[in-house]
Amino acid sequence: MLDTDFFRRWMTAAAASVDREADHLTDLDSAIGDADHGSNLQRGFAAVKAVLEKDAPATPGALLALAGRQLISTVGGASGPLYGTLLRRTGKALGDETEVTQEQFAQAFAAGVAAVGQLGGAQAGDKTMLDALLPAAEALALSFDGAADAARAGAEATVPMRARKGRASYLGERSIGHQDPGATSAALLVDALAETAD
Ligand code: ADP
Ligand code: MG
Ligand code: MG
Repeated sequence: MLDTDFFRRWMTAAAASVDREADHLTDLDSAIGDADHGSNLQRGFAAVKAVLEKDAPATPGALLALAGRQLISTVGGASGPLYGTLLRRTGKALGDETEVTQEQFAQAFAAGVAAVGQLGGAQAGDKTMLDALLPAAEALALSFDGAADAARAGAEATVPMRARKGRASYLGERSIGHQDPGATSAALLVDALAETAD
């Protein structure tokens, strides 16, 4: 079973990973965006970590919803509302349970990923975070490590894609040949999840 502390540890691991990889994420965003993805997420996850140090949400659902609200209110870029929606919607789908099964979490996460698609209007193959999140959501019911592998492969698969959503889409053909920053950070978040489950 996955309890509230599991999700707190996931958010803490995600914050550490985003910190470590911030320069890399910003470099990727400088190739096809505006060079702020690393700093956007660093600011957002630092705020998530800070709020979780002072508040103690009682359920996994409440914790993820709180983390999502922090991302929405602290990240200026497109990724803030998108990741915020992912966590809020996942949290909402978990309801009031104090512990959830991996299966319940996988279903809730899939609902969160679907909400990201609805909010941003992107689909698989559009070279966005969804190219990592969709395969991860599918693999999650079976295994955390499988989800991390699927997310990483999904992020790598964005290299030859042409961006159809977000800032990178303004580049048209010139977006081809670069890995999407948001798909890369999504893979980090799923990897932090697998690390937490180990
Ligand atoms: P901004 O583009 O506003 O500077 P960030 O640099 O923080 O925001 O985030 C960029 C990432 O957000 C992209 O690499 C992409 O993965 C993701 N993204 C942008 N627009 C969308 C969208 N409509 N749907 C899904 N993901 C998106
Ligand atoms: Mg950017
Ligand atoms: Mg920006």
